[in-house]
Amino acid sequence: MAEFVFPPAAQPSVAVAGSEARFPVRRIFCVGRNYAAHAREMGQDPDREPPFFFSKPGDAVVDSGAAIPYPSLTEDLHHEIELVVAIGKGGSDIEASEAPSHVFGYAVGIDLTRRDLQGEAKKMGRPWDWAKAFDRSAPCGAITQVDKTGHPAKGRIWLAVNGTVRQDGDLAELIWPVADVIALCSRAMELKPGDLIYTGTPAGVGALKPGDRVEGGVDGVGEIAITISAV
Ligand code: MN
Repeated sequence: MAEFVFPPAAQPSVAVAGSEARFPVRRIFCVGRNYAAHAREMGQDPDREPPFFFSKPGDAVVDSGAAIPYPSLTEDLHHEIELVVAIGKGGSDIEASEAPSHVFGYAVGIDLTRRDLQGEAKKMGRPWDWAKAFDRSAPCGAITQVDKTGHPAKGRIWLAVNGTVRQDGDLAELIWPVADVIALCSRAMELKPGDLIYTGTPAGVGALKPGDRVEGGVDGVGEIAITISAV
């Protein structure tokens, strides 16, 4: 065992439904735009261009049930409900037809976004990290293993704030289905067990404020609930 000059950080992880054992998180990849109606609401042409990715650090993950302090540097914190793919078997240049065998399970996540910083970054041609990859920016519900979920290609994906539904879509509307997302991501990076892929959000993104109760789910996969607390 190597010795360290100070104790290494705890391993980030996500709960696994029906299991005491947790899923050790390595990296978090996110698809930028993967539902046509959301692309349109963000002012983009939803034609089927290749998807683009951005990342969050693995330790941005937060369990369902958490109270997340309203983050710094923003006055426009947005929710994005997403289907999350948990990679169980790594690989490079994975064929879409082989992609399902690399999936450990699926979960429901929220890609929290400092929209004002993202808008500024887009305008200035700067990186998105400060908008997307901040502390506690990746809440993730318990992972349900594929023996229970199969590989969902359709099903309601929704998010409600204080009981009012704001996002209400269907996985069938994904521009790039999960298998293609895995294949494309694995061309850029060698995927590893423990990687999470947030697959994009349907239309209806909007602002959160301290005190908000946020719930969401994907039919057949699971649910998530967080609250936004005052700083
Ligand atoms: Mn997103």
